[in-house]
Amino acid sequence: MSIYVVGHKSPDTDSVASAIAYAALKKAMGVDAVAAMQGELNPESKLVLDRFGFSAPTIMTDAAGKQIMLVDFSDLAQGPANMSDVVEVVDHHKIGDVTTNSPIFFYAKPVGCTCTVINEIYKTNGIAIDKKVAGIMTAAILSDTVNFKSPTCTPDDKAAVKELAAIAGIADTSALFMDMLKAKSAIDGVPVKDLLNRDYKDFDMNGKKVGIGQLELATLDQAAGCRADLVKALTALKAEGRHSVLFMLTDVVKEGTELLVVSDDPALIEKAFGGKLTNGAMWCPGMMSRKKQTVPPMQKAFGC
Ligand code: MG
Ligand code: MG
Ligand code: MG
Repeated sequence: MSIYVVGHKSPDTDSVASAIAYAALKKAMGVDAVAAMQGELNPESKLVLDRFGFSAPTIMTDAAGKQIMLVDFSDLAQGPANMSDVVEVVDHHKIGDVTTNSPIFFYAKPVGCTCTVINEIYKTNGIAIDKKVAGIMTAAILSDTVNFKSPTCTPDDKAAVKELAAIAGIADTSALFMDMLKAKSAIDGVPVKDLLNRDYKDFDMNGKKVGIGQLELATLDQAAGCRADLVKALTALKAEGRHSVLFMLTDVVKEGTELLVVSDDPALIEKAFGGKLTNGAMWCPGMMSRKKQTVPPMQKAFGC
């Protein structure tokens, strides 16, 4: 009987890559292991599997009658239904609430990615990692650690990427990360109205209605084609009775925001952010968070 290796619900690149990589390790050790996932691939994971030549793992949402190994989680709520026969766990999160009837292999470390832990288990067992598998493991670590920028990233993760990228023959891991980020933030063919509503909020600022939206991008170039339509849509929003409508085109890589502004009082917005509007836009270096970096200066400017 096959044993299923499965990551958490709403699969991300780590949970999918870990399932494939750990199933491959188990197979190399003589276990009939099958990689599984609990839902469809997200756009980033799809790009990664395509890039390294894998098809999507089988979907498994009910574990009744199955032996399963968990990767990238150990919480019952994040698992498939009827998760009663867990035989192994490999993870990098806080320990969850899964319980077992017999002793099992349970290995978790406080590192940035499950694939970093799996890399170590390969080495412990003296098993060589397949080139393609090393590719998706590299991608998973880049994804979970946001190209090493996340506070969860550890020296172990960096060392693992070095080793795995060498096996996979990936010369430029930052370029791979950029491709993944672009896939994740792809906006081609998405209607402007949907882009605007993806993350939009209205605020009351001293009796004035102010709308602020945000779109996270791998590069501002992604929005070049729809920028004029975006401004048109912002102008229409403002005409519904708002004092100002701001739209943050946030460049995750450059770590800053191109702020599109349609306002009754552009000088007030310039003052709020200490910048100068050119054609209704200004670049705000370091601005990533609406909650922490956009709303407070606006509230201050409006005398809230
Ligand atoms: Mg995950
Ligand atoms: Mg993870
Ligand atoms: Mg993640």
